[in-house]
Amino acid sequence: MELYDIVVIGGGINGAGIARDAAGRGLKVLLAEQNDFASATSSASTKLIHGGLRYLEYYEFRLVSESLAEREVMLRIAPHIIWPLEFVLPHEKHLRRAWMIRAGLFLYDHIGGRSSLPRSRSLSLSPQGHGAGLKPEFSRGFAYYDAWVDDARLVVLTLSSARAHGATVLGRTRCTGARREGDVWRVTLHEQASGKQSDVQARILVNAAGPWVKSLLERELRIASPGQVRLVKGSHIVVPRIHDKRHAYILQNSDRRVVFLLPYEREFTLIGTTDVQLAEQDLPATISPEEVAYLCAAASRYSARAITPDEVVWSYSGVRPLYDDGKTDPSAITRDYELLLDEQGPPLLSVFGGKITTYRKLAEHVMDKLARWIPAHRPWTHTEPLPGGDFGGRDYAAVLGEYRARYSGLDPHWLARLLRRHGTLSAKILDNAKTEAELGENFGGGLYERERAYLIEHEWARAADDVLWRRTKCGLHMSEAQRRRVAERMSGAR
Ligand SMILES: Cc1cc2nc3c(=O)[nH]c(=O)nc-3n(C[C@H](O)[C@H](O)[C@H](O)COP(=O)(O)OP(=O)(O)OC[C@H]3O[C@@H](n4cnc5c(N)ncnc54)[C@H](O)[C@@H]3O)c2cc1C
Repeated sequence: MELYDIVVIGGGINGAGIARDAAGRGLKVLLAEQNDFASATSSASTKLIHGGLRYLEYYEFRLVSESLAEREVMLRIAPHIIWPLEFVLPHEKHLRRAWMIRAGLFLYDHIGGRSSLPRSRSLSLSPQGHGAGLKPEFSRGFAYYDAWVDDARLVVLTLSSARAHGATVLGRTRCTGARREGDVWRVTLHEQASGKQSDVQARILVNAAGPWVKSLLERELRIASPGQVRLVKGSHIVVPRIHDKRHAYILQNSDRRVVFLLPYEREFTLIGTTDVQLAEQDLPATISPEEVAYLCAAASRYSARAITPDEVVWSYSGVRPLYDDGKTDPSAITRDYELLLDEQGPPLLSVFGGKITTYRKLAEHVMDKLARWIPAHRPWTHTEPLPGGDFGGRDYAAVLGEYRARYSGLDPHWLARLLRRHGTLSAKILDNAKTEAELGENFGGGLYERERAYLIEHEWARAADDVLWRRTKCGLHMSEAQRRRVAERMSGAR
């Protein structure tokens, strides 16, 4: 039976980050994910690498300052899939006073240490500029910066890096049980496609099962959970874009929540999110008509054009696995994380909570917590770029310029989209292609056969959804018939 230093259960962002960090420290690592990687919460976020301006109202200073410092690191190590995004907050003095917002933004500018992003400012909103798409009565506001991330790609690239550092990464493989046997864990894994069951041994077991963190403990491991988890659903809708500028809006709602309107995939606006408490039997989560109505109403309060449910072209829901700190209001529960260690025999570490933004730091904290059982090693993930992110000191525009010059026979807009997915690994897909015809079958939506084959060979894609909605968002730009064609081609990929 194969013996690993660490077995990680869960291939969302937290499991991926832990596997990468541990593998890069020379540990023998296995990660098992029951479905596709990032198929749960980690592809259903608002896709922000952010400090979380609104968390300041809940005094989450530790989380905000760690997140803002992480924003700098993430912009540096993954410049292809993470980029700066300007947010405009239209002012409504009856909801929050201007001095309060200014004080919050001042703190936000400074609490994370040095930042490469522009500082916040107040500004007038005009229909041609920072008020584009809004009702004309919103004439004043504030602007600040955070960053955008392709969340599902962040998971896959983190796992690619883990694999490059020697980790064994298994998708569609469920952990169906684990028990302590002397100094090690015996972990049972069930491979979905073949139905094959096998056992491995682990010196350390890490539970990064996200919304299933407690049920993995109680059902598969038969261990009482040391912490409670609150499952809070958040949904997003996608509508035809409400403006053609690059900035996002952060809108104050009358229930004191905030709703984001984000430029999405060039032609769309992404609107989210909600906070709906769930029970475990409600997983996986789906959006309800009430949530669609809530998001449309929140956006329509500000948008010059009324946003209606019939405009929604796509929607998705995710479940926040929040560490239960006893707060009753779902918006108020901490977004910080807790790492709970069970030492009654070989160690078991469970991850409660966490953000996409802080996953790398969370993984470092996991390594610190496990320091007694693993050889001393320095943190390393803050300097090594994620696959495709090695821009060699150049910015995205400079790299894109080079690609456009080198591949002048290809559509420059498509090249930009490809580079946003794969960074410098795009060259592997393009492989000196001079013309569109050399890219193979055109599935529509910006997807060609060469990329599809690459995703199968290098990024564990097996099903149509893996390709259309997680490795890329090409599905959003395709007709139903085009998506069916991809599904047909993927049916042979298992
Ligand atoms: C609506 C919403 C918006 C958000 N917005 C942001 C944001 O803008 N920025 C930000 O930083 N964070 C955001 N978050 C938070 C962030 O998305 C989550 O904290 C993060 O994705 C959780 O990752 P995870 O790895 O813990 O869980 P998951 O991504 O859910 O991964 C857990 C994985 O474990 C697997 N698993 C479970 N049981 C087993 C088993 N027995 N065997 C094998 N595998 C198993 C599951 O299939 C799953 O893939 C948002 C969350 C939501 C819901």
